[in-house]
Amino acid sequence: MPKELSRIAAQVRASTTIAIDTKYKEMKAAGMDVIGFGAGEPDFDTPDNIKMEAIRAIGSNFTRYTPAAGTLELREAVCTRLEKDCGVSYKPNEVVVSNGAKQSLFLALSALVDPGDEVIIAAPYWVSYYELIRMVGGVPVIVECGETSGWKMTADMLRAAITPKTKAFILNNPSNPSGVVYTTGELSDLARVCVESDVYIIADEIYYKLVYGDARFTSIAALGEDVKRLTILINGVSKSYAMTGWRIGYSAAAPEIAKVISNLQSHMSSAPNSIAQKAATEALTASQSSIELMRRAFEARREYFIERVSEVPDVKIIPPDGAFYVMMDISAFIGRTLGGVEIHNADDFADAFLTAGHVALVPCTGFGAPKHVRWSYATSLENIKLGLDRLESFLFAK
Ligand code: PMP
Ligand code: GLU
Repeated sequence: MPKELSRIAAQVRASTTIAIDTKYKEMKAAGMDVIGFGAGEPDFDTPDNIKMEAIRAIGSNFTRYTPAAGTLELREAVCTRLEKDCGVSYKPNEVVVSNGAKQSLFLALSALVDPGDEVIIAAPYWVSYYELIRMVGGVPVIVECGETSGWKMTADMLRAAITPKTKAFILNNPSNPSGVVYTTGELSDLARVCVESDVYIIADEIYYKLVYGDARFTSIAALGEDVKRLTILINGVSKSYAMTGWRIGYSAAAPEIAKVISNLQSHMSSAPNSIAQKAATEALTASQSSIELMRRAFEARREYFIERVSEVPDVKIIPPDGAFYVMMDISAFIGRTLGGVEIHNADDFADAFLTAGHVALVPCTGFGAPKHVRWSYATSLENIKLGLDRLESFLFAK
């Protein structure tokens, strides 16, 4: 009888976002007319100048291990970009580049958390936070941030969740899945609570370039040295530069934290991919105009989506200010039959919509919001139109 697998590993559930995306891609490959609003991945191609840099890297044999924390050139580029865009100043020895922001998050948690330590997350939360915390032996503490607070964590909610075991608070701004963008005042209140209680802030700002309308992004690390000292800032090129497959993310933190992260990484993956680092350097240092074009396209899609969905009876949304997601409340359909299936929760809804309506959405059950589904509008306007037509037929077909 083989011995049991690791208890920590066995309790980790597969990522719902990745699972939905895989199912959608399989259906598509089988020739089905299915539309994907599942995984949050820009539909744009990586800009040409970035791709060319990778080709040049291969041609010039930039194909060997780099320093564990990433090339100095890329870490300098990260520092310059953070200074320009976020008004926060880091040195290259405070930056570690990893194979995607997901790995940066895992390493940040590994650097901070001992078994039994608590890490606070705001529900709805991105599915991977919960599992990543458990993967390092931590205890996720979920704070329900209802629709009345606009899905936002307030300073009072955060204070009430802190115990002597609290090690860190994960702040996702702009947020996946809610699209919430925190104001400077709200961030400053949250930061004060963390400083008062010496709680680390893991600030996942990967969607920072994607804010719309009157919303403005503020990096929490820019709110003072005392806040910055406690912050591990997480960012990357996946979303803003349409580079999800290149797998480059980074963390920025006090040098002693960055050192630990780099040490861990040196054993885990040696270093990030050398070619992708060249491409990411180009992304961060070249003109940002193609990025702004993508942002505007997302903004137009968001507007269309909000307008159209507001005409659909019985579904509700809180218009998002950032990222490229909309959470839709489907509680009015619980107990009804759709596509031949009785709907008990968001999982049933998403399953039935995919099978009967040929539209892939992510149920927010794994995000701590079991009566919501998430649409990613990182897809063309035509697809959005068609997807919403299909939603109406699915919900109200006679
Ligand atoms: N943080 C959030 C909130 C995300 O939605 C994602 C999506 N993948 C990531 C981090 C990880 O990004 P990466 O592709 O760089 O691993
Ligand atoms: N973060 C994206 C999402 O939420 C991509 C998939 C993933 O990494 O989870 O859909």
